[in-house]
Amino acid sequence: MKKYKVGIIGATGMVGQRFVTLMNNHPWFDTVVLAASSRSAGKTYREAVGSRWAMDTEIPAWAEDMVIMDATNDIAAIAAQVDFIFCAVDMKKEEIRALEEAYAKHECPVVSNNSAHRGTPDVPMVIPEVNPEHLAVIEAQRKRLGTTRGFIAVKSNCSIQSYVPALAPLKDKFGLKKVLACTYQAISGAGKTFETWPEMVDNLIPYIAGEEEKSEQEPLKVWGSVQNGVIKNADSPAITTQCLRVPVSNGHTAAVFASFEQKPELEDIKAIWAAYRGKPQELNLPTAPKQFLHYFEEENFPQAKLHRDLEGGMAISIGRLRPDTQYDLKFVCLSHNTLRGAAGGAVLLAELLCAEGYIIAR
Ligand code: NAP
Repeated sequence: MKKYKVGIIGATGMVGQRFVTLMNNHPWFDTVVLAASSRSAGKTYREAVGSRWAMDTEIPAWAEDMVIMDATNDIAAIAAQVDFIFCAVDMKKEEIRALEEAYAKHECPVVSNNSAHRGTPDVPMVIPEVNPEHLAVIEAQRKRLGTTRGFIAVKSNCSIQSYVPALAPLKDKFGLKKVLACTYQAISGAGKTFETWPEMVDNLIPYIAGEEEKSEQEPLKVWGSVQNGVIKNADSPAITTQCLRVPVSNGHTAAVFASFEQKPELEDIKAIWAAYRGKPQELNLPTAPKQFLHYFEEENFPQAKLHRDLEGGMAISIGRLRPDTQYDLKFVCLSHNTLRGAAGGAVLLAELLCAEGYIIAR
């Protein structure tokens, strides 16, 4: 099989490093461009990342001596070399919006981790198991951009990657009405480690800028429907959240409360979770977990340290499903924030885009 040529924009950052790690020996993708800011451009990847390398494994040998390109000034040169890019950069929202559109207009598909285009109605925001049908809006987006190949597709915020998958198969079946979710988010979600953020050791910070808005609004787009070339957001359930930063290196946990039109039996929910399969499992995509939702009966599970790496960090761990006194039920769920919640989720989305013919290898 011909491999797809890939560029990683923001390759030196926390999410970018994950992309580099995930591209190592990927069966479909071959990384030909690493790009970052002008501060890194011209340096080798090893020099540019320096002591910021935060992965458990070494920098892959193929990446070490690659020379970093300038993500904002080399757009045409990068677009000419790749079949698509992954994008995860720390820039102002308007700058990211313009950067991603510039790549798309250079006929380069963009698979993005950034939030800048998540609200754009003709940009699909996809959790591959949950709403793969949203990719249909790409055709309308291409018309708007005047492109034949280029488009932008995004993944949703890391905070919602455990509770939206858990609630998705229950939503229509039982009429999901109301959700309350408190998230306990790892420091890698801020691009940090305990070395670079020592204030987080033995600490908890009850505020993450913009996170509660994203956690309440993004599920409604994921659960929205395609209408006339755009995604029309769902108007229910009502969602309220609180998002806290906790002293955990990786793995976002959520404590979730939910109420339904028809109250489901707990054992039925467990059976539905166990049986839940999506397009990635049907298509046997390389990064897809075999079992998407894992339910644990142990009352002290899931734990960030024990379960975040389940199925390569791509599975969702759930536990403590029980009745609640004010909502119908409550449970706890966990996902790896830089794997399923960031780079891994984007790799799975890119695999889906390739399998469905939206990205082609030239
Ligand atoms: P990060 O560690 O701070 O890395 C930022 C990257 O952006 C670096 O490669 C940096 O290059 C590059 N960059 C900064 N300014 C630039 C410019 N003017 N032009 C081109 N490149 C520039 O950030 P991160 O945690 O990886 O997050 C990146 C994006 O992913 C953000 O939008 C974030 O919201 C999103 N995200 C993060 C997570 C997570 O768990 N961390 C999860 C979901 C989404 P230099 O090294 O050259 O400065």
